[in-house]
Parts: sequence; structure tokens; C-alpha cells
Amino acid sequence: MLPTIFVSHGAPTLALQDVPARHFLEGLGASMPRPRAIVAVSAHWETRQPSAGAAMEPGTIHDFGRFDDRLFQMRYPAPGDPALAERVSGLLREAGLNSVVDPSRGLDHGVWVPLLLMYPDPGIPVVPVSIQPEYGTAHHLKVGRALASLRNEDVLVLASGSFTHDLSRFHGRAVESATPEDVDAFAGWFDTALTEGRTTDLLDYRTRAPHAEENHPTEEHLLPLYVALGAAGRDARAERLHRSATYGVLRMDAYAFH
Ligand code: ZN
Repeated sequence: MLPTIFVSHGAPTLALQDVPARHFLEGLGASMPRPRAIVAVSAHWETRQPSAGAAMEPGTIHDFGRFDDRLFQMRYPAPGDPALAERVSGLLREAGLNSVVDPSRGLDHGVWVPLLLMYPDPGIPVVPVSIQPEYGTAHHLKVGRALASLRNEDVLVLASGSFTHDLSRFHGRAVESATPEDVDAFAGWFDTALTEGRTTDLLDYRTRAPHAEENHPTEEHLLPLYVALGAAGRDARAERLHRSATYGVLRMDAYAFH
């Protein structure tokens, strides 16, 4: 059975940079059985209701500002899977969530940057799924649990965010900058809580983890992790696949949930 996966996508320039997180992602796809489809939960698609993208040919969305021009030439022309999008939305509704299908949503950089590295040949159908930042951690764990049966159908639930994400300290830093102490303190607490399966602590990380608000001034880059955790089922076991940082303040850690 496939694990569910959380990856940190960092800055859009990850697609071009020679950094450990990029090399990790380049090996990640081949380290798992090839899925028949991917349900991709992105920090960069925020909606009021849990939504599943049902485009036949989802476009590549260049949803970022002034970065390297080469990024705007990059495409990830994976096919969509409208039937799977309907199934995702149906599973969410069965769980009491007011889900809808979006017939036109494409793939934002939280989806296509990791997938371009993981599966350079864009042959696997992709269904993007949104987050609802105003509803917090428990809601996203519930979204994940509603999708747990997809693992039995060779569908990879891939959640994409950032293990730490303080953009106020990102600008002007070099990509190889040292990691500030508070970033490592937060990441260390979160890693221990994940690997010890302390779900209650994880749900309440904002008051229990050191420096939570500094490392996630807003929650949207951490919430996808809860979907991956939930989608691995109630007895999910976390395995850290990767740890590194870019720009010091963007921890690039990745997890599999079994
Ligand atoms: Zn992002």
C-alpha cells in the first residue's frame, strides 16, 4: 500500500536550484510504487469549501511574483482525472464536509514544482485539492481521514506545504543561510510529536510548540501536512524522509505516513 506524503516545496526557484531538498524530491518518486493517480493538496489553493480540481487537462499556474524568468516557461502537462475528482469530493461529502468540484482549476506551484522533480515524465493523472485556512488543523485532519480509502486504489495522497514558513525573514537571505535557533526548535518539537504519534499535541501545535507563530505566521503551509497524516488512517506512523533548510527559515522536511 502506498504511504501518504508531505513535502515542503520551498520557494518556486526550487525547480532550478542545486539544493539537498531538490535532490531528495528527484529521488522520491522512484522510491515508491508508481501510483495510478495523484491527489495533490496544496498550500497555494485556498477556498471556503474543500474543492477537487476536475479539469481534463489542468493548466500550469505560475502563481508567484518576481522570480527567475525561466520559471515562467516551465510547464507540467499532467492529465487530470475528473472521475477521481468526483470521487474525492464524494468522500468528503460522506464525511460531512461541504465539498465541491472545480472544473477549471490548474496546478499551482505547490503542486507542479514537487511533481516536476518527483515524476519528470508527467504521465500520472493529478487531481488538485484545496485547503481552508480559517478552519484550522482538526478540519484538515478530517479531510485527510475522509480520503484514507484512496490508498487502497493506488492513489498517492501528496500534501505540499512548508515545514516552516516565515516569509518575513526570507527576503534578502542567501539560499544556504544558517537556520535560526527558533526554527530548529519548532521543527524539532514538531518532528518528535509526529514520530511519537502525539496527535493531540499536533492539533494544538500553535499553543504547545515553541515559536509556532514565528515559524507559521499564517497556517496555510502547515495545514496540508494534517491532510497527509489523516489520509494514512487513525494508526498512522510518521517517517521522516528528509530534513534540510533553504534560506535558513524555510525548513524543507518531508514525511511519509504509513
Ligand atoms: Zn508555498
